[in-house]
Amino acid sequence: MREFGETIFAEMSALAVRTGAVNLGQGFPDTDGPSLIADAAIEAIRAGHNQYPPGIGIPMLRQAIAEHQRHFYGIELDPAIEVLVTAGATEAIAASLLALCEPGDEVVMFEPYYDSYAACVALAGARRRVVTLRPPRYGFDPAELDAAITPATRLILLNTPHNPTGKVFSADELAHIARLAVEHDLLVVTDEVYEHLVFEGEHIPIATLPGMAERTLTISSAGKTFSFTGWKIGWITGPAELVAAVRTIKQFLTYVNGAPFQPAVAVGLGLGDDYFDAFTADMRAKRDLLCAGLAAAGFEVFVPQGTYFATVDIRPLGTDDGRAFCLALPERCGVVAVPNVVFYDNVDEGWHLVRFAFCKRTEVLEEAVTRLARW
Ligand code: PMP
Ligand code: GLN
Repeated sequence: MREFGETIFAEMSALAVRTGAVNLGQGFPDTDGPSLIADAAIEAIRAGHNQYPPGIGIPMLRQAIAEHQRHFYGIELDPAIEVLVTAGATEAIAASLLALCEPGDEVVMFEPYYDSYAACVALAGARRRVVTLRPPRYGFDPAELDAAITPATRLILLNTPHNPTGKVFSADELAHIARLAVEHDLLVVTDEVYEHLVFEGEHIPIATLPGMAERTLTISSAGKTFSFTGWKIGWITGPAELVAAVRTIKQFLTYVNGAPFQPAVAVGLGLGDDYFDAFTADMRAKRDLLCAGLAAAGFEVFVPQGTYFATVDIRPLGTDDGRAFCLALPERCGVVAVPNVVFYDNVDEGWHLVRFAFCKRTEVLEEAVTRLARW
């Protein structure tokens, strides 16, 4: 695991603290989620929900997760055997790769990729095969994807809406991926933590495509949807035997997690559509503010269709080294961002790209764009 070192998010957040810069690096909101949800956690602590919860998660939360999948996507799940509560999406990703991959298996994934994917593939003793998403639309070359599938391929690891690019995979793209999965009898693990942050197009869970329900594990997290990233309540849903395999691994990673937060997240999942709509609308306004500011500062901006991240090409500013740029940015402008190159195997593809998070208060984003104009 030597190559993995410290995550870029820890490194850049430490840089922000050290320099007092505005932190648009690590993706966490600077305001809390609904007080109704926070109150439910406080009540749960006071009511004594402080010991180990059931290994698969409390029934109320599993029920709420199943209901959420039915309400938004028409996915029917048995909360007793097809839903597992995890310590954030991070554990769901780790446990599913450890459960489903044997040493030597190959995992096909898109780059740029969320950093824990590569680390967890390595932990499982598997090998990653990456297919590059290229700006401005961050599409993939179907022939490249087809060629990445080999007899050793075990699963396709998907992320939509996609971090760091903000891409939302289209119906056609998902259909292509699903066709390959069925044809080669592959499993799909799909990370959909930004499912409620789609500004253009529509979030389509790949599990809803023909032939996919029986081979797909779907992951999400309360961190993103309810702005409580520190609570680490995530979940994974899918066919009972795959969920059982993941549960076996989870037992030995964390055993259980977040007893008093589980009923609170169930309250969140039960909020009306107005909560989810307002959350998306608020983040869309923040996206527009940041992207306009980044464009005014001279960057080429790839306006994201979803998530709370925007990627820019820094070359119009006369430099092409994203990592050096991000290390200099706090001193020169008082802003922290993340160099996308760390999310690539093919470093040339991401050398000149930088990610800014916009899950921050309006005045913070305004201050950041004012500062960025000084570069
Ligand atoms: N997947 C993606 C794509 C992410 O951006 C993140 C970061 N929040 C995670 C997983 C991890 O989620 P959690 O904090 O719930 O572990
Ligand atoms: N997912 C968040 C991001 O991409 C960070 C989470 C973390 O620090 N691991 O910024």
